[in-house]
This record gives sequence, C-alpha cells and structure tokens, in this order.
Amino acid sequence: MTELPTCRFCATPLTETFVDLGAMPLANSFITANEIAGERRYPLHVRVCPSCLLVQADHSVPPDAIFSADYAYFSSYADTWVEHARQYADAIIERYTLGPGSLVVEIASNDGYLLQHFKNRGVPVLGVEPAANVADAARAKGIPTEVTFFGRASAARLAAAGHRADLMAANNVLAHVPDIRDFVGGFALLLKPEGVVTFEFPHLFNLIRQTQFDTIYHEHYSYLSLFTVEHILEAAGLKAIDVEELPTHGGSLRLYAAKRTSTHAESARLDEVRNKEREAHLDRPEGYRGFSDRVQAARASFLSFLANARRQGKRVAAYGAAAKGNTFLNYCGVTASDVACVFDRSVAKQGKLSPGSHIPVLAPQKLADVKPDFLIILPWNLADEVQRTNAALRTWGGRFVIGIPQTRVLP
Ligand SMILES: [Zn+2]
Repeated sequence: MTELPTCRFCATPLTETFVDLGAMPLANSFITANEIAGERRYPLHVRVCPSCLLVQADHSVPPDAIFSADYAYFSSYADTWVEHARQYADAIIERYTLGPGSLVVEIASNDGYLLQHFKNRGVPVLGVEPAANVADAARAKGIPTEVTFFGRASAARLAAAGHRADLMAANNVLAHVPDIRDFVGGFALLLKPEGVVTFEFPHLFNLIRQTQFDTIYHEHYSYLSLFTVEHILEAAGLKAIDVEELPTHGGSLRLYAAKRTSTHAESARLDEVRNKEREAHLDRPEGYRGFSDRVQAARASFLSFLANARRQGKRVAAYGAAAKGNTFLNYCGVTASDVACVFDRSVAKQGKLSPGSHIPVLAPQKLADVKPDFLIILPWNLADEVQRTNAALRTWGGRFVIGIPQTRVLP
C-alpha cells in the first residue's frame, strides 16, 4: 500500500477522498492528430484534509507540463469576461479612490484583459504572469508585465525593486497554485500597509451543491471555501475584510483581504457567508461526503442522453473547448463518434483535437455547415452568451443542451 499524500497547507495525512475521476489528460492540452500516440494521462484524485478541510488534487503532474509555453488560454476571447473585468475595475477604482499615484498589481494577469481598464483610467499597473507568450500579448497592449510565478520570493524581489501595491488582484488564480501557503504569503510582502487584495475563486459551496465536477482538472490544485481560505490568510499575516458572492464560474467568491495590522474593519457580509458554509457543514468532514455518488449519477444521465440521440439518428456537437468541458467529456468516456465536433472561438484551438476525447475543434462559423441537432454547452457558466451568439442553431430546429448537474435539453 502506498503512503497517503499529505495536505499541502497543514501537512495532515489525507485520509478522505472527495472524488476520484480516474486517469485524465491535461484539460488544456489540445493536440494535433500526430500527437495522439504521445498523449499522457495522469490520475485526477481529489481529497479533503480532515484537519483544515482544504479540498485538493493529488500532485500527479509535473508543474512544467501544466504551465508550458504554448498554454492556449487567452482571457480576452470571452466577451462576458472582458465585461466582468471592466465592471470590477470601475467599482474598485471608486471604492479605494485609486488614481495616478496608486499602483495596481495583478497576479496571473494573462493578456492584460483586466489591467487595461485601470491603465485606460490613468492608474499605474503591473502584471505578473508566468506564461511568456501570454505576457508578450499584454506588453503589446502597453501593460508592463513581469514573467514569473508569484510567491514569497518573487514578491520580495518586486518589493526590493520599489513596487508597493495599493490594490492587488488575484482573480481565478488561487485555485491554480500548487503551494498555496507560499503564494498567499507573497501578498503580505507587496501590499502597502493599508493596501487591499481581492481574490476571486469558484466557491466550493456551489461546486458541491450543484455537482460541478467538471470544474475539477489538474490545473486546479485547490477547491476553496471561505472557511479554509481564512485559515490560509491568517497564516500569511492577512485578514478577510469583506466578501461578495458573484455568479461567475457557477458561483464564485470575491474576497477582500488586507494586512492583519491594517485598520480595515470587517464587513457584515463575511458572517453571512460563514453562516451559509456552516449550515452546509463545510466546517466539518461530513459536509464533503456523498459528492462522488452524485458525480456518477451525472455521468449516467449524460450517457443516457447520448444513447437516445444515437438511436434517433441525431447529430450531437458541443460548444466551448474549455478545460471544464474536457473533464466532463473524458470522465463520461465520450469520443468523436458520440460528439462530432466542438466549436470554439479560440483560433489557437481550431484545427486541433480536444485532449483525451480527440474531438475536432472548429470555428463557430462552421455551425451552419455541421447543422447539429443538439449543441452541448460545455461552459455552462456562459450559457446565455453561447445561446445568443449561436442563435442560428434554432433555425434548423437544433436544441441547446447542458450536462450539469444532470443532462437537460434547454427550452
Ligand atoms: Zn490541511
């Protein structure tokens, strides 16, 4: 018997399984037909720490394999995200009176999709982004960007170079970092004494309640509750000061934190989310049991939909070659004989095959050539946008389908 892995925050042995999705390819590794033979799969086993209750995936993939240079994700491809970023920038500039004398630092700044909004309003910015090709795209837009992984060492280096942040943003990155203790520790080093950091992350509360197992993939090391994140902040010398519940990614938290020594007071909204988690028993191991059974039921529901479609001779295609779609398709064991193609706006993915399921990725302009009877919306969090931009589907009687938490054909 192999030794149990230990919690990457508190080092307790991980005796409890949250869900075991089996061997999966990397969800963002789109490949060409020539690369099929060399495609690798890695275990995707998620456990919950019996002590601090951090839900975490086993270390099964070398980090270099995940953050490779041709990392294909560019935030700016989804309209909804660009709009979300603009609203965030506008609101937080007002809230903290940011101006030409301030500094906004974003961690995992991608192609500058967020920082461009601060820059356009005259607020100095600095991006920190580990993928060199993505950082180049940001610099081309005039966003100064450091190519590095963030943590205590890189934060100390930036601080020594004279950078001190009024606002730091780490939106949809906290779940992606292997060493969450070191990563969060970096913020305390780079913030001004009264500086504020906002973290956005999918809320584990919704993942569990809505069986969003497709948001589990190797690139996500942690699945986060407010309960556990508050422990992690405390260990870094930070404190939570406010929280908002957002609809993004099927339900996220935007958590505001500052140095423990700052004068920021705590908002009433923190207690509301703390209570909600307590009522769902997320403050004890029992709250995390039973998830695995619901995931298996979701797969059974999708396979039954596919069997019916095949019996009726219907053509099934998918929309959105996002990471979450790949977890879903691979866990369900779907191939190109079940789902003919997947449409995606990302030029970098078009012409390639989805990892594991090897479904060809086509430009959305080909929708009318393929004329599917059913179009599965894989990024269900963008369902409204996908239905709007692909409304042509309905002109030949095609229907939109969502697979989470159970498969259903949309009206
Ligand atoms: Zn732990």
